[in-house]
Amino acid sequence: MFCYQCEQTSKGTGCTSIGVCGKDSSTAALQDLLVHLTKGLAMYAHRARQLDATKGADRSVDVAMIEALFTSVTNVAFDAERVAQVIGRTVEARARARALYEQLCRAAGREPEQLGGAASAQPAIGVQAMARQGEEHSIAALRKRIGEDRAGLHELVVYGSRARPPTLTMLTCLVTTMTGPMRSSTKRSMP
Ligand code: SF4
Repeated sequence: MFCYQCEQTSKGTGCTSIGVCGKDSSTAALQDLLVHLTKGLAMYAHRARQLDATKGADRSVDVAMIEALFTSVTNVAFDAERVAQVIGRTVEARARARALYEQLCRAAGREPEQLGGAASAQPAIGVQAMARQGEEHSIAALRKRIGEDRAGLHELVVYGSRARPPTLTMLTCLVTTMTGPMRSSTKRSMP
């Protein structure tokens, strides 16, 4: 695990084997997966609101996003089973946000975007399998993909989003700027 999201972080650089706060590596990986899937939720929620600020808003989606972000804050969730349950609810909320977005596209006579990455990723079955999957979305993995500086900027925005959840919807724009053109001309994804 690697986590440097709070001021308690080990030696001021990062918790690696276990968090100073008590978070274990499985829970850390599950939180990384949860944050990744929450980006997918934001991708649909943001697009739905862009189409119609009123009809594109779904309170249950907003609540799910806040629950997901709050679950990944320091000293909130050390129970891997509970984080796995929140992952399930986040994916359900993402499906609702997607249905709303596609419905608004149809009403506007537009073709919905085919979104990949966090918008289409499915959590594995079982807590341990989810934790292994979460390692693909760890800070270490992100640093390998986009470099330390851009990974650090990415994390900064994520941490800011926890204090101010609507900021997460900005992440799609920021990450696009940071990572350059999308990997596919037909699918859009998050890192
Ligand atoms: S949240 Fe826990 S694991 Fe992460 S930096 Fe803070 S003390 Fe370390």
